[in-house]
Amino acid sequence: MSILKDFLLQLAIMVIPIFSYFTLVIEKVESEKRRTLFMTLLWGVSILLCMAFPISFGDHARLDLRILPLLFGSLYGGFWPSIFLSAFIILYRLTSGISAGLYSTVLVLVLTLPIIWYYQKTFLKAARAKKVFISSSLSFYYCLLGLIIVGLLSGFSAENIKIQLIFLLFVTAVAFCFIMLVEKIRENHQLRKEMQNAEKLRVISELASVFAHEIRNPMQVTRGFLQLLNDPDLPDDKKKYVQISIEELDRANEIIHDFLLFGKPSADNRQRVDAGLQLKRAVNIIQNYSFSFNAEIKMSIEDNCWIHANSQQLNQSLINILKNAAESMENGGTVSAGCTAENGYVRITIKDQGIGMTESQMARLGSPFYSLKESGTGLGMMVSYQIIRSFGGSIEVNSAMGAGTEFIILLPHMDQ
Ligand code: ADP
Ligand code: MG
Repeated sequence: MSILKDFLLQLAIMVIPIFSYFTLVIEKVESEKRRTLFMTLLWGVSILLCMAFPISFGDHARLDLRILPLLFGSLYGGFWPSIFLSAFIILYRLTSGISAGLYSTVLVLVLTLPIIWYYQKTFLKAARAKKVFISSSLSFYYCLLGLIIVGLLSGFSAENIKIQLIFLLFVTAVAFCFIMLVEKIRENHQLRKEMQNAEKLRVISELASVFAHEIRNPMQVTRGFLQLLNDPDLPDDKKKYVQISIEELDRANEIIHDFLLFGKPSADNRQRVDAGLQLKRAVNIIQNYSFSFNAEIKMSIEDNCWIHANSQQLNQSLINILKNAAESMENGGTVSAGCTAENGYVRITIKDQGIGMTESQMARLGSPFYSLKESGTGLGMMVSYQIIRSFGGSIEVNSAMGAGTEFIILLPHMDQ
């Protein structure tokens, strides 16, 4: 009976970090690096608890699930978490003295870690079924290795082999179930986030089409009268007030323009469009503006970049991205704009040498009204994302603070 309790306790120790991570960390912490840090700490605690309360098979053996926190931490976190968690295991083992157990622990780790690292990238990209397969196989391998090494160091006895085999099956089964659980929770979380976003955007686009026109008209009238007020005889300070009022009205108008574009149904008016040509046009439009930031735009554009799109909207989204690129370079620099066709996709890249973004800034990119600029609208990226998505494309962002930002737009290629 007490052995059953031990098994259950080990399972409970595994569940705690998973639920703490998905209920607390993922909701509260934005930055990917910090999430990995918290996840590693949680798995570290789980390793300690696993090793402190092992399953004891009478006098024969004391086994625990430590491989699973190590495996999950390494597969999801990468190199450093795996080193940290392995160090945890070895340090804890050291506290009970140097023995054959310590040697076998170190040896098994040394022979397992490289294989985990080798499969880590594949694991992250894989679909759920493959992830389950990789993690179950790795835990099976770890236990088998443990069985062989312990056997070589302290002799094979029938009883020991039996215990180790039971344990091996248990660990593999738990790895199988838990990776399924983790993946299911991750998928649900992702789905919920996407739904929240979609709902937010739906509300905005509805509001946009209802209000924008109504607000625009009175604004135009006000602007007209303000211009009439702007008499040459007016004292300088009053002239300035009128000028500021007109500028602010123009800014409001710009926001409404972006909103209207966003609210428009995007499926209509799509044709065969040369993305390279549109990129050239967008660059031409933005060229003068970029000079004021001392930004030079370099182009490298291939022929035959045909896509199915609405040229005006595509243009708008490219202008938004190019404009941001120029604005990000306070001290000037080069923006490289490229367009190539490869593997069924047209790939548009816009790369600047500007201030760059942190991970949390990148995560917020495209949310309505997110802007770090004094007079920004925070709608440009939202509109661009919406447009590119409506063409069946995707936008990827790579950025580093101080080094610059690269936008990669992938759109389905249309044959000639
Ligand atoms: P706006 O330009 O009006 O601020 P956007 O939606 O176009 O609104 O951009 C949102 C924010 O994203 C910007 O305020 C800026 O902080 C950040 N951003 C966008 N593009 C870049 C870039 N190329 N480099 C650095 N930051 C950027
Ligand atoms: Mg912008």
